[in-house]
This record gives sequence, structure tokens and C-alpha cells, in this order.
Amino acid sequence: MPFKKINFEFIIIGFICICIGLFSFARYMGWLQNSGLLSTIARTVYGPDIRQEMARLKRAKDIAPGLPVVTALCYHEVTPDRENDCMNVKPEIFRRHIREFKEAGYVFIHVGDLQNYASGLAPLPAKALLISFDDGYADNYNYAYPVLREEQVPGTFFVVSSTIGKENRMTAAQLREMQANGMKIGSHTANHVNLTDMGANEIDFELRSSKETLEKILGKPVCALAYPGGKVNDTVSDKAKSCYEMAFVATVRPETKQTMYTLQRYGVFSWNEHIESIFKNR
Ligand SMILES: [Zn+2]
Repeated sequence: MPFKKINFEFIIIGFICICIGLFSFARYMGWLQNSGLLSTIARTVYGPDIRQEMARLKRAKDIAPGLPVVTALCYHEVTPDRENDCMNVKPEIFRRHIREFKEAGYVFIHVGDLQNYASGLAPLPAKALLISFDDGYADNYNYAYPVLREEQVPGTFFVVSSTIGKENRMTAAQLREMQANGMKIGSHTANHVNLTDMGANEIDFELRSSKETLEKILGKPVCALAYPGGKVNDTVSDKAKSCYEMAFVATVRPETKQTMYTLQRYGVFSWNEHIESIFKNR
């Protein structure tokens, strides 16, 4: 019977439409961001979901007008070993992050671009992404740097000056080579100590001597600092102002007003398989 056939087709099409509608709604609500079959389908159909981060940046612009609007990431180790280390992101996952950020329309910048922006010399791209690495591990040179070069992405490496050339840390020659190939090197202090526990002279030493050591190695000014453990207070940030153009913490707190000396970064960890999950880190 023709009527029954039309009715049946109508039900099937209606059912498919409802499924697509529900799927799109779930994706819109951010329910499909965790890894799994549905999130894989969502990424295949729609690409990476970074709306949460775009909303944070918009808010950051309102809270602190004039400050660079940028997504900044903080990696530590990048190695195929160290299976159970939460601070380690495997090289293939690191490459995946870069490709997903490209797919999402990000433009990669380094601390020199932030400095130019702050000095009024150049604007920043609308979707700017700064990739940084803390602690100066040897694997940054062995595994992250080759990926960055292949993908033509600049990275910023925050190095602890007293550990340069020590076991499992990058050497002076490696830092120079990376700088010559478009990477930026910043300070992560001289000894990686909690600056908020120190007196004014000790803070001064940690900030100034690391800058001097790095500048001697690199032959160029070092403009950026990352606080060890992301720990900072007013005394520490005032000291940072006297030697650096900017300084970074290691967390993102959307409700907190940033300054050039408390620039926020998302930590990236072993469980961040796709870029959406990075923006859930606090
Ligand atoms: Zn550190």
C-alpha cells in the first residue's frame, strides 16, 4: 500500500533527523569532548571543538583590555619513554596536538611576538597559540624540537640555567641550535626554587643570574621568564618586572585578571589525547 510505504519512509527520515539533532545538541553542549566513539565521530564531522577556549579569551579581553589575547600551553617532557609519568606527552601525541591546532585555525607564535605586540610593533593573530616547555629536558631537543621543525612551528623553551648540560637536560650547543632555527629560549630561574619562599636578594639572584647565563650562551636578550611551579606573589612579579618583559604562570584561571607578569598557561599532561581536553585543565 503506497500510504503505508510513505509513512514508513517518513518515520525513518524523522528518526534520522532527530538523531542528527540530538548529536549536534550534545556536541554543542560539550558533552562529546571526552575520548570515545561519539567524540571521534564528532571530531571527524565537525573538527576540534575549541569554543570553550574562545569564550575564555573573549572574557580575558574584557577583564584586561590591552593585554595579548593568546592561548599558551606548558609542556614538560616529550618522550616515547616514561610511560607512567603524567608530565610526559608522547611525541606522536605532541604532533597530533600541533596538527589539531592547525586544523582549528590557530597561528603559532613565540615570546618574541608577544614582546613585539606589547611594544606596539606588531598585532597578534586572532587565534594565537604559544607553545612552551618548562625545565629544559633533553627530550625537548630530541623529540619535540624535530616535530616543531617539521611542522614549522616556533616553540619557547624555559630553561633552568644551573642545569644546562647536566644529565637529562639540554646543552648550551643544543639551545644555540634551536635558537638559530626559530625557537625562543626563556628563563626558568637559576635553580628552580619556589620564589615565593625567598627573600628579595635571593629572588634577584635567581632572576638576574639565569638571564645573564642564558644571554651569554645565546648572544641575544632573554625577554621571558616562567616562574618555577608557576608560583608568584607581588614581590616576585615586581622583581620580574625589573629584568624581563613578561613572565608566565602554569595554570589558567579564567576569573583572574592577567598582567604581562602573570600570563596564564594551560599545563599539558599525558592524558590530553586531543586538544579539547587541554582546555579543561585547571
Ligand atoms: Zn619547572
